[in-house]
Amino acid sequence: MGLEEKLPSGFLLTTVEKLAGYIRKNSLWPATFGLACCAIEMMAVTTARHDLSRFGMEVFRGSPRQADLMIVAGRVSNKMAPVLRQVYDQMSEPKWVLAMGACASSGGMFNNYAIVQGVDHIVPVDIYLPGCPPRPEMLMDAIIKLHESIKDAKLGVNREKVIREVEAAALSAKPTHQIPVFGAN
Ligand code: SF4
Repeated sequence: MGLEEKLPSGFLLTTVEKLAGYIRKNSLWPATFGLACCAIEMMAVTTARHDLSRFGMEVFRGSPRQADLMIVAGRVSNKMAPVLRQVYDQMSEPKWVLAMGACASSGGMFNNYAIVQGVDHIVPVDIYLPGCPPRPEMLMDAIIKLHESIKDAKLGVNREKVIREVEAAALSAKPTHQIPVFGAN
């Protein structure tokens, strides 16, 4: 790695939290979970052109128990919502959620009764990625930004407290389709 050449006297001081964050950010395994057109762009990040394997993440896990990143790629129907939640619950801790695209983040153009108006009503979202669909480069950028937040994440009970707060706020939020649109009348 060349790290030893950068260290002047051969030892390194850090905190357990920082070390755990560094290791976690470099060992994310995404769950195989594509829902609609955005999933095609998600698949593209694993190809030779975009090469997600640079971050050690090219193998999307077939079992949620072996995954710690859920990329919600596409619109979430009400019928799919409990399945999505079950997959999330089965993923190993600590875990993260990336809402990819307008549909996953807010329901997108599907402002109707069949589509969940933002996946944060179902699972706690760590990062939102805009676009319809977002380009593979945008997904890579979101993943790198997520890496940065994982690196600085709190450990143990602190993280659980943050998750509980985010989840409670999301579940009590007003669905997007009930929020009046400014200038609509
Ligand atoms: S954001 Fe656009 S590309 Fe992605 S699932 Fe929705 S309609 Fe499809």
